[in-house]
Amino acid sequence: MKDRSSMIDPFGRAITYLRVSVTDRCDFRCVYCMAEDMHFLPKRDLLSLEELDRLCTVFIEKGVRRLRLTGGEPLVRKNIMHLVHQLSRHLKAGTLDELTLTTNGSQLERFAAELADCGVRRINVSLDTLDPVKFHAITRWGVLDKVMRGIDAALAAGLKIKINTVALRGFNELEIPEIMRWAHGRGMDMTVIETMPLGEVDVDRTDQYLPLSELRANLERQFDLTDIPYKTGGPARYVEVAQTGGRLGFITPLTHNFCESCNRVRITCTGTLYMCLGQEDAADLRAPLRASEGNELLSQAIDEAITRKPKGHDFVIDRRTRRPAVSRHMSVTGG
Ligand code: SAM
Ligand code: SF4
Repeated sequence: MKDRSSMIDPFGRAITYLRVSVTDRCDFRCVYCMAEDMHFLPKRDLLSLEELDRLCTVFIEKGVRRLRLTGGEPLVRKNIMHLVHQLSRHLKAGTLDELTLTTNGSQLERFAAELADCGVRRINVSLDTLDPVKFHAITRWGVLDKVMRGIDAALAAGLKIKINTVALRGFNELEIPEIMRWAHGRGMDMTVIETMPLGEVDVDRTDQYLPLSELRANLERQFDLTDIPYKTGGPARYVEVAQTGGRLGFITPLTHNFCESCNRVRITCTGTLYMCLGQEDAADLRAPLRASEGNELLSQAIDEAITRKPKGHDFVIDRRTRRPAVSRHMSVTGG
């Protein structure tokens, strides 16, 4: 990774990775992520695709080398492929190393080939179960078969896939070995994610919370796991699984194991910049973006915000009130 970023935070970390939530809307209602009756932002508050492109371009000029589109569900944003086509010019110009996205897979059948044409090389697909009935229960609105067809289309288009699975007690803890065998059998990496207390949802998170240390201990009864130094620039710690020959990553946001090397910032679909997923501090970039046609004000606002990037986060599920430490939903900042 080249670190020629002009954005260096107070702890010496170069900001080279930008995650952009292009919409807060989604065609699923995963129980740990959203309440069933979500109130979405009025359309006028959203950045237009042109504004998103301008914002991303300024970040790329300032040193961002990897860009991830997320949401909500990025592929349900109207005309999203227009933005992907626009951003792909930075790949062609060599000013961006990677353009990728995190998706629930529901629209992949439609878009996989076009994504590959735009220079997208790998994507993350979120999937918590291989059982259609359980899938419908966890996503409330999702249809597993459609996601499976999307995954097939993406593999056929030559995209590399990483399956992201949220580890949920009482839901998929016993199924994770099977999901891993399936993913590795199809040449896909897999990452398991600990639930994060972000946003009010309808379920009790303290019951769902499954520490990955416990999951790993269970897996080690069935598989030989070897720690490997594999890095994707993200917070996952990887092991190689002898029996499948595949890679499994663990993301444990509740333990402070990755803040020291955090190279990322996030923007929401309204142009709010979050310097840390686990903190409330944010900077509005929409006002400077809209204040003038030039990018000077925007660039200054970004520089000022980076000086406020905190050293780390402090997620807690408050056991007395059972309320999340951070009130915004994951679908706002996109994880
Ligand atoms: N809709 C896309 C998807 O599901 O991949 C992208 C956005 S989604 C918010 C990004 C990731 O965040 C998904 O892998 C999802 O499982 C994860 N996620 C959502 N809420 C979470 C929570 N409370 N704790 C941990 N992971 C969460
Ligand atoms: Fe939608 Fe992704 Fe949240 Fe599920 S996790 S509700 S697919 S944004």
